[in-house]
Amino acid sequence: MSNVVNPPSARLYVGRLAPSPTGHLHLGHARTFWIAAARARASGGRLLLRIDDLDTDRCRPAYVESALADLGWLGLVTEPPVYFQSARIPLYREALARLHAAGLIYPCHRSRRDLAGALSAPHEPLVDGPPADDEPLYPVEWRPAPDAPLPALDAAGFTLNWRFRVPDGEAITFNDAVAGPQSAVAGRVFGDFLVWRKDGLPSYQLACAVDDAALGITEVVRGADLVRSTFRQLLVLRALGATAPDFAHAPLMLDEKGARLAKRHDALALRTLRESGVSADEVRALLVAD
Ligand code: GLU
Repeated sequence: MSNVVNPPSARLYVGRLAPSPTGHLHLGHARTFWIAAARARASGGRLLLRIDDLDTDRCRPAYVESALADLGWLGLVTEPPVYFQSARIPLYREALARLHAAGLIYPCHRSRRDLAGALSAPHEPLVDGPPADDEPLYPVEWRPAPDAPLPALDAAGFTLNWRFRVPDGEAITFNDAVAGPQSAVAGRVFGDFLVWRKDGLPSYQLACAVDDAALGITEVVRGADLVRSTFRQLLVLRALGATAPDFAHAPLMLDEKGARLAKRHDALALRTLRESGVSADEVRALLVAD
């Protein structure tokens, strides 16, 4: 599949920052967001803020507040309003209904434990890519036949796990503005992925693709840990008939031991730096120099 790329002059640049309020923002976020803001500015475009707050177990309002404060402190200005995914569920339900009508999804009754036990075929690594993310390759033998009737998407239907049936063997490609041409074979590098959970909420893959399309995002700038998700989201966007944005995956910031900065690295949380007297200018200098 080729990513539909319009000439830059044909559409105004619209970028977005999309933090998940599951912890304090750290230097790694700051650098990715800094790059996103710089690319939007360089194109004379817009920059939106989306809060990915669908994970009700892990998201906290206090982290939304601290993210807004940290972004303001760093001078990263986004255009109002702030978009909260938790307020956009009807949009995701509508998208699921379209995938259902097109026969591109199926209900999945397997548990995480079933899946963990079936990992005889690990997914292929991406060449030069980030480590595998946390969604294992779904065994094709667990798929229902393509013509098997689907349960209705009524109230009960929205309380099932639904998976997207990937086009096995098709190479999904896109041209990354940072890392160059990317390619992954569906069914080998990633398998049938969850688009809806039985708790009544969309997966990150579905919600992100729907929002990027609905908000008219022209370029997604995010961390390189999400490259594998990009292939899945391209499939969702294509299935919904939406124009795919361009992508720029920023290299991840590593700590002194070479591990990815995670939100648990509290010492590198922007809030901790700020409270310990580091100035926004000093942080900005670090982001630009690195
Ligand atoms: N909310 C996601 C995260 O913090 C990023 C989503 C995205 O940029 O697509 O990992």
